[in-house]
Amino acid sequence: MKETMQFQAESKQLLSLMINSIYTNKEIFLRELISNASDAIDKYRYLSISSQGKTPTKEHFIRIELNKDKRYIKICDNGIGMSKEDLINNLGTIAKSGSKDFLEKFKKAKDEQDLNIIGQFGVGFYSAFMVANKIEVISKTIDEDKAHKFTSDGVETYTIEDVEKDDCGTDVIVYLKKSTKEEEYDQFLNEYTIENLVRKYSDYIRYPIKMMVKKSVQDVDENNKPIEGKYHDVIEDKVLNSMTPIWKKNKKDVSQEELDEFYKNKFSDFEKPLINLFVSVEGMLDYKSLIFIPSHAPYNLYSENYEKGLMLYAKGIFIKDKCPELVPDYLKFIRGLVDSDDFNLNISREMLQSSPIMTKIANNIEKKIIEKLKEVKENDFETYRKFFDIYGEHIKYGIYSSYGGKKDLLQDLLIFHSLKHQDNMISLKQYKNEMKKEQKFIYFASGETLDQILLLPQMEKYRKDEVDVLLLDKKIDEFAIMMLMNYDKVEFKSISSDDTESLSEEQKTELDSLTATHKRLLDNLKEGLKDSVDEVVLSSKLVDAPVCISTKEGLSLSMEKTLNEQPGVEKDQQIKSSKVLEINPNHELFKALATIDDDQAKKYASILYDEALMLEGFDIKDKKDFITKLNELLVKSFNK
Ligand code: ADP
Repeated sequence: MKETMQFQAESKQLLSLMINSIYTNKEIFLRELISNASDAIDKYRYLSISSQGKTPTKEHFIRIELNKDKRYIKICDNGIGMSKEDLINNLGTIAKSGSKDFLEKFKKAKDEQDLNIIGQFGVGFYSAFMVANKIEVISKTIDEDKAHKFTSDGVETYTIEDVEKDDCGTDVIVYLKKSTKEEEYDQFLNEYTIENLVRKYSDYIRYPIKMMVKKSVQDVDENNKPIEGKYHDVIEDKVLNSMTPIWKKNKKDVSQEELDEFYKNKFSDFEKPLINLFVSVEGMLDYKSLIFIPSHAPYNLYSENYEKGLMLYAKGIFIKDKCPELVPDYLKFIRGLVDSDDFNLNISREMLQSSPIMTKIANNIEKKIIEKLKEVKENDFETYRKFFDIYGEHIKYGIYSSYGGKKDLLQDLLIFHSLKHQDNMISLKQYKNEMKKEQKFIYFASGETLDQILLLPQMEKYRKDEVDVLLLDKKIDEFAIMMLMNYDKVEFKSISSDDTESLSEEQKTELDSLTATHKRLLDNLKEGLKDSVDEVVLSSKLVDAPVCISTKEGLSLSMEKTLNEQPGVEKDQQIKSSKVLEINPNHELFKALATIDDDQAKKYASILYDEALMLEGFDIKDKKDFITKLNELLVKSFNK
């Protein structure tokens, strides 16, 4: 029985793009079909290992057959095969996110350059419609007697019918379009072209890709001596690929370009990775790993259904697409694979994942990645800056979420803008090396943007004293710093924190006596601000600004804001930092304040507080109250 079915809407879109494609590198269809064949064999092998003999092992290969008369190229595998349902679900529907991404990108593509991205996208099976006017897929699974044939011209519909096939596996028969002036489809019937394409794109495929090829052999005489200039053709079954997976090769024989190409093909990315890493560990632990840091964060990295993980191979056999155990959360953006001979194939996937070896390998990989990042930071700071711009917050998250447990591992990866290095960024080590002799702390200031931080009233003093200050403009920064506590024995200190301890004895005495003189004013201001601040003090921190707010006990204004803005935090659960309003005793405003009466001090204290909030880049709470009071003062002063 032959059934006719409709392609799903999205598939139709993709198919129509493929059929009408104007891309230059249509040849990638072969890579895609071979890669599917190889995956299908991987799946069969996994099944036969895990089924305790129920699925017989066999010798696997992929075969390419060219038929010049019927103008087809056939790609056969003896892998897992597809049932009727599989054919419908896998070939009648786009299931793959890669294809969906591609459609998105395609819709946005503007020029020829953009359109050529297809060559680097894994659009899978459908890419064969770039060169085909008809495709047949004949497939059989191990559990079925019958095989099924899928046939389609890639437009609206496809048919499925029962057919006979001996072994399980899949044959994909691609009927080539007629060559035109622009496009030479006949080249795909040429043995030599196909051999080259296989070597170019699929050399590392771990199963032999075989093809019957014609070979010219020199004739020999009766004594087996070659006869000059006389040749005859023989047909030979030739293995076209070298079959060494790139990660099994000798590390020194694998070039950066090869790794980049491998990444693009394997992980369907159209850009080469920002950083790649080949890990080969032998000895107590034995594994190979390829790690890639994408040059752009995966599009769904921040969505809940993003799955972290590395591909898992055991003794060269594919086990799993994403093994999350191999990647700590803070490095969830990495991609790559791990292959180890230490994995025992006879245990289940689940047990494998929780095995002690897995943990050891995971820890080792983490260490290697961090080492590599440090090396890039030392030797290629431009690339490191790119890395840090994209993934820096993950590193900080690593410090924060481990409660400082990963301090030693990660602290040297941090870089910050600073008062003295506003365009470049510096490491903590560099900050420490550049510290002034008498300087006791690593100072930092936080806020929403660099500009805003630079305008902080507290910054004036550091600018004047030429003391550097780290500028923290990311929400997570202060939380990470809090977990670090110190760097190489030097403590961190926020310029907005209460810092009487850094004053000299002389300064302290002077401030104390001034405070005693103005105690009444300060008490009145505090009374007026009793809902907002814990203390009102005179400060030696300020140069030009009249007021600022400092906080006690580590929780800064920005942290308070970040924490209270977390989804699900109700009003009554909000936390409050302990705040101090600091007044600059050298400012004109203070001199004027010293002359007002008790009630005025209590009433207008809120203006000082609001002013400080605004200076520090925060919103004031009661705008109406602020404006009413400000206007009262303006009216009074204008009426004078
Ligand atoms: P991808 O291989 O990237 O998932 P494709 O569009 O190439 O996307 O294939 C869709 C699905 O069809 C595959 O995931 C696989 O399940 C199935 N498939 C394709 N080719 C084969 C094959 N030769 N043998 C078995 N299954 C296949």
